[in-house]
Amino acid sequence: LMHLTKKLIEIRSMLLSIDQSDALKLPSIVVIGSQSSGKSSVLESIVGHEFLPKGTNMVTRRPIELTLIHTPAKPGQKGSVEYGEFPGLGTGRITNFADIQRTLTDLNLSVPADQAVSNEPIELRIYSPNVPDLTLIDLPGYVQISSLDQPETLKEQISALCDKYIREPNIILAVCAADVDLANSPALRASRKVDPLGLRTIGVITKMDLVPPEEGAAILSNNRYPLHLGYVGVVSKGPGKESSRDRDSRDVVARRAEADFFGRHLDVFKPSSTMMIGTDTLRRRLMEVLESSMASSLHGITNAVQLELEEATYQFKVQYNDRRISPESYVAEAMDTLKLRFQKATEQFKRPIIRAKLKTMLDEKVMDVLEQLYWLDKRSPELSQLANDPKLKPEDVEAYWKHKLEAASSLLTKSGVGRDSTILVADGLRSLIDSIAGGEPFNFHPRAAERLIQFSHLILRDRINITSDQVENCIKPFKYDVDVEPREWEAGRERAIDLYEKELAMCEKRLSEIKQKVGGGRRLGGLISYVRSLEERQREREKERAAKRLESGLTAGTEDTQQQPSTSVIPKPLELDDSPESYKYPPAQVMDARYAMMYSERLNILKLRLAALRSRRCKAGPQSEVFCPEAFLNVVADKLAYTSSLFINIELLEHFFYQFPREIDARLLYDLDRKEIVDFARENPIVRRHLDLQERKDKLEEVMKQLNSLSTLRADPQPKPRRQ
Ligand code: GDP
Repeated sequence: LMHLTKKLIEIRSMLLSIDQSDALKLPSIVVIGSQSSGKSSVLESIVGHEFLPKGTNMVTRRPIELTLIHTPAKPGQKGSVEYGEFPGLGTGRITNFADIQRTLTDLNLSVPADQAVSNEPIELRIYSPNVPDLTLIDLPGYVQISSLDQPETLKEQISALCDKYIREPNIILAVCAADVDLANSPALRASRKVDPLGLRTIGVITKMDLVPPEEGAAILSNNRYPLHLGYVGVVSKGPGKESSRDRDSRDVVARRAEADFFGRHLDVFKPSSTMMIGTDTLRRRLMEVLESSMASSLHGITNAVQLELEEATYQFKVQYNDRRISPESYVAEAMDTLKLRFQKATEQFKRPIIRAKLKTMLDEKVMDVLEQLYWLDKRSPELSQLANDPKLKPEDVEAYWKHKLEAASSLLTKSGVGRDSTILVADGLRSLIDSIAGGEPFNFHPRAAERLIQFSHLILRDRINITSDQVENCIKPFKYDVDVEPREWEAGRERAIDLYEKELAMCEKRLSEIKQKVGGGRRLGGLISYVRSLEERQREREKERAAKRLESGLTAGTEDTQQQPSTSVIPKPLELDDSPESYKYPPAQVMDARYAMMYSERLNILKLRLAALRSRRCKAGPQSEVFCPEAFLNVVADKLAYTSSLFINIELLEHFFYQFPREIDARLLYDLDRKEIVDFARENPIVRRHLDLQERKDKLEEVMKQLNSLSTLRADPQPKPRRQ
């Protein structure tokens, strides 16, 4: 039977780790009593060591789940075989009981004083040849009045906590001091509420030495508050402060004090009587009661576990088709998914695709250059006329246009192509990583996603400068001289036409939008002539001002900047004067009109340029470059895109694609320990549920196996609980 309790205690803690529900509970002994009733002293004398927190300020604030495990001393074994363990803390063996006491004190004090008590139990196991196999739960002592720094509700909080633990099937150990009237014992009062017949309550009367022996004996055999399991009288006063230095002797001293006391009053406490006295008797009594209580719970708990196991097995089959997973396999899968996803995405970074992207970016630059140098140039219609003159030879074209073409080409090649194209591709990589990190399964693993982003950015940062320098270096020749083949020219010309047609369509769309907005073409026409008159007046005013400035001896030099063509699409502000004319139309419509004027100007020039690009002159080939800067710049842009993509591929992409999967292994995987792997896997709620059910099923199976192995023990004839 001894063996049965030990096994059941093991099973009990496994059941506790499965869940805390009442259905899966084996009994434990719950120790309740008012403060200073001698509760700690009793527990310590059962263990044979001083290990509980001491102090005046209510030091037990959390339940202590105390499991005592009897470990037979092996013959010839030297040194201490007694030790404690805190399974929840992973401290390992603690052989010094003063350390256990300190740890318990810290754990208790970690509950803030204003909160006073916590329902979260502390688990402690003590292994020793001197302890019986028992599970005891020490609870905060009942208080009469709260002190100033404790919450008003303390009394109720403690009562509620105790009520939670003294429910079936637990055994109640009600601690009462001999020198306090039992009628006032909060422990007995609480017990009577849940166990009115006293079937599972043992009374412990402490401080027997503080009342006359006859009075003590009367309490033990009392009939006023009868308990089926009886009362045990003890003396468990520890040694005075002076000898507490020598902890090991504590037990000896206490036992001697108890033996002395009962020995001195043998006439009252006769060993033959049915009266139960002494700590040893208490221990034996607790073992008997726990054993028989556990034995009678066995059938019920086996059924309950069987039911739970069937349910878990069924769920595991239905939900997961019996598929087992492990945190390790999940992590490995996640990493494979990541690499595969990445591998697939590299398709988007093949050279032709990159080249096309870069070309689009450079097309934009070309349009900017054309706008700045040609469209905004008042002389640009001339160039279109020149293109239509079949007799004009390219070398006879005015130097103005030759310079213009050179300036345009150099504006394009020196616009920071190396940096811009590198950043463009690096941004593409960045958003690829961002989308991988934001998708499944990394949306469940924010810390891993963060790390993923971090190290990919690190690789990129590392390569961006090198790459952009390299690209810039390799396009250097195009800054001075660009050879254009006839075939390249033709492709460039067609592309330029294409772009112009798009630009044309865009301008037309804008224009018609404005027309609609202001209320039709006639209204817009009126607006435009109004704006023209305003502009005319403004020019006159400026002239006058310039003349005045000349008169007053100022140079007109500052005026030069205003003569420059504006490079911005946004019209510069119009000065309004006080004349009523100024306010004929609302300012927003004036602005619309000015945009409309700009778009229609742009439309005119684009149409002229399109005609030029389609002219025989332009079709003739690269020798016409001065007449058709658009075609020429397009060829340059294409060459820049080609060269950039070549070096970006070598310096950035290949490097990144090589490095990234290796960094995944190095930084996401190999520095994880077992706990981190489990934590990682459990971050995914789908995996967590799967693991939870799987673990629950495994544990229940294990418990069931253990319970079944007990059935042989149960067949043994059970000795009746004895009474001394
Ligand atoms: P708890 O607050 O219920 O845990 O009570 P303690 O075990 O801390 O005991 C309160 C006080 O009563 C302490 O000063 C103990 O030394 C003392 N005490 C405990 N048991 C006995 C006993 O059997 N006899 C005497 N004389 N004093 C005791």
